Amino acid sequence: MNHFEPTHGNLACEGVPLRDIAQSVGTPVYVYSSATLERHYEVLRHALAAEGLKGEGGGEALIAFAVKANSNLAVLKTLARRGAGADTVSEGEIRRALAAGIPAHKIVFSGVGKTAGELAFALKAGVSEINIESEPEMHLAAQVAQSLGTRAVIAIRVNPDVSAGGHAKIATGKADNKFGVSFSEAERLYAQASNNAGLKPVGVTCHIGSQITDLAPMSSAFAKMKGLVERLRHEGLAVDRLDLGGGLGVPYFNQPDPPTPADYARMIAQTLGDLDVAYSFEPGRMIAANAGVLLATVLHIHKRPEGRKFAILDAAMNDLIRPAMYEAYHDIIPLAPRAGPPEIYDVVGPICETGDTFTRERELPPLAAGDLVAFMSAGAYGAVMSSEYNSRLLVPEVLVRGDRYAVVRPRPTYEDMLAKDAMPDWF
Ligand SMILES: *Cc1c(COP(=O)(O)O)cnc(C)c1O
Repeated sequence: MNHFEPTHGNLACEGVPLRDIAQSVGTPVYVYSSATLERHYEVLRHALAAEGLKGEGGGEALIAFAVKANSNLAVLKTLARRGAGADTVSEGEIRRALAAGIPAHKIVFSGVGKTAGELAFALKAGVSEINIESEPEMHLAAQVAQSLGTRAVIAIRVNPDVSAGGHAKIATGKADNKFGVSFSEAERLYAQASNNAGLKPVGVTCHIGSQITDLAPMSSAFAKMKGLVERLRHEGLAVDRLDLGGGLGVPYFNQPDPPTPADYARMIAQTLGDLDVAYSFEPGRMIAANAGVLLATVLHIHKRPEGRKFAILDAAMNDLIRPAMYEAYHDIIPLAPRAGPPEIYDVVGPICETGDTFTRERELPPLAAGDLVAFMSAGAYGAVMSSEYNSRLLVPEVLVRGDRYAVVRPRPTYEDMLAKDAMPDWF
């Protein structure tokens, strides 16, 4: 469920007509709903609690929002105030999480290519856990920790070798991709880590992909994780934490409804049973995707004599790259749909490559120059992947709360954009 509904024929976000935001901030612009972010977080939280999936010290399971899905500070703060932690994959993301008020003890540091500098930063900040993705990375973490006179609290990321995920570029749980180690390697590394003065292994973790709409591969991966925890314990090693990653899919309107958080929590409880561990989760998309839209203006309707119609927008692949990169589907809704029979459009942006096509041959209400449209489900992996390609200004972001809204990342000026470059002194 989300909080984008038509009121008096005009699409609104909570109590704010999106047209008002388009008029005052300009388009393209991302708009996020606080109520939807909070609702998705709370639905997951309650689903986990209802199945008895607990966290450290018998408290609530840690829900570490995957910052890479939406890293706007105001979005992070909205979730932080509800108690969310953060799953981070760079020093920049750790800094964002901290700046948004997420305490270090709720920050998980993941990613296959952590540098010595980033590991040192994470250790000094006191993050909850560093998820180790390979043997050399584990040795580096041990070295850095020892040089700082501390021990790195780590979990070993396992690659459970299952196929899952909405698209090849976001599947992460097969043995032929770069993430994590095999089960046998995990056992060896865990034992090694427990004898290393620079390391304190506390658990194991997996994250098998994104936009997963079938619980079966998750359940099979989690069953294998349970086996791993039991084998490690059998060897006398303490395993206190189990981090099950993120990956639950969301409805992008053209697909059958994905499993609900309640289905997901029930599957986990059934698969893992009474395994006594502190659970943590790293959801990104399921919290943020349907909490955001990208607003754009139709610039021109370009008709070919053979009949093909292009709706050319002021938003482009630099603002929302998911269709170009993952063949992703986004529902496109005019803010105030015109009457009349639907027409067939290719919806495109102004960038000089054919990849800048949001959709081909989509049936939409009739469009005209000047109309405002919303790309739905754009709150995750939208603004975070934006760029200035074609020297277009970085897209701004707005956060709505009830009948108020605030610009939470202003549109830069052209002067800002040019000032980022520097001239060498030989000119
Ligand atoms: C991307 C990522 C997530 C979040 O995935 P979603 O599909 O957005 O839930 C969680 N954990 C790790 C390690 C990731 O890389």
